[in-house]
Amino acid sequence: MGSAGPQCCHFRLHGGSPRPARDPCYLPAVAQPPAPAPAAVAPPTEAEERLRRISKVELHQHVDGSIPPEVTWELMKHYRLNPVDSLEAMRRHLEIQAGEEGTLLAYLDKMHYPLWVTQFYENVSKVTEAIALAAAEDGVGTLELRYAPLIHTYAGLTPRQSIRAALSGMNHAHRRHPRMKLGLIVIAMRQHGPHIAKILARQALAEAQHLHERTGVVGFDIAGPERGNPPRLFRSAYEIARLGRLGLTAHAGEDGPVEYIWEAVDELGVQRIGHGCAAARDPELVRRLARDRIAVEVCLSSNYHTGAVKRGERHPVHVFLEAGVPVALCCDNSTVSRTGALHESRLAAAELGTEAVERIHREADGYTFIRPETALANRDLD
Ligand SMILES: [Zn+2]
Repeated sequence: MGSAGPQCCHFRLHGGSPRPARDPCYLPAVAQPPAPAPAAVAPPTEAEERLRRISKVELHQHVDGSIPPEVTWELMKHYRLNPVDSLEAMRRHLEIQAGEEGTLLAYLDKMHYPLWVTQFYENVSKVTEAIALAAAEDGVGTLELRYAPLIHTYAGLTPRQSIRAALSGMNHAHRRHPRMKLGLIVIAMRQHGPHIAKILARQALAEAQHLHERTGVVGFDIAGPERGNPPRLFRSAYEIARLGRLGLTAHAGEDGPVEYIWEAVDELGVQRIGHGCAAARDPELVRRLARDRIAVEVCLSSNYHTGAVKRGERHPVHVFLEAGVPVALCCDNSTVSRTGALHESRLAAAELGTEAVERIHREADGYTFIRPETALANRDLD
């Protein structure tokens, strides 16, 4: 839909027929602002406490769309680049607004302003650290951030320096939260083409976790506009990443057709799918995902914002769970979607129950690409 409906009454958006708020077929379309949860679906305090305590597994969160607005604002002010006069006005540029949701391209447009300042090593490090610290506040115990290095090289960073900058921020966060598992997924943007993706895959595996002591690159992904950029074209890049022992995931079936998910599975050999909404319309593909234990990175808020799932539509996560497809509950872009790991858990719990959400996070940890045991042992510096 092109414009936001009543934020908390999405159940009434389906064909005009009111549905009970606890109808298990319907996940709440995104409530805004995300916290506190709207009273109509707010879990009891005890359940809320349980949700807070869950060690959450975040497997799909983009750096560019997750920088806390205060941090972007501070950097913009520092360089006197701020296009507006207040943080509140800046938020409106960075967060999806009522009336803006419904298309993937409009959603992606929200990530342009931060790129003005995230072209410098220290800034990339700083914003990445801020994202990881915010996730820790939400109880995230396993955090995979994803990042497209090439769109941070406009001021002269090399792709590898760009990757190292993000890893540096994660290492800083790790010092504050030593028990947190952290890893970086390198994204090749589809619009840059398959050849650039191959070059990037080589750069990514140079920083692979198993080659370094601290936080490293753990996975490879393609993102950006889906249509017209079929996954099969990126096969060579995925082969390079696979040989370099990176985990493989791909954005597929968010904006694009179900065939793109089949291609990601059959031709790229992915272990996980980003979004995968279109899969719910293909029972054979759903059975395949369940059989091969290919996890779907589910992003509830984002899916409504991009129009991948229409308001009032039954969210595909129900089909996945009913068929035994592994899923992870993820933010996608915590700033653009005004959400966080806790809020996504809250949205899911309102439909599935707290226990189910606990189980989803527990099981999702089995699908992380982060394997600290493969990193080089820390040298004893004493
Ligand atoms: Zn994404």
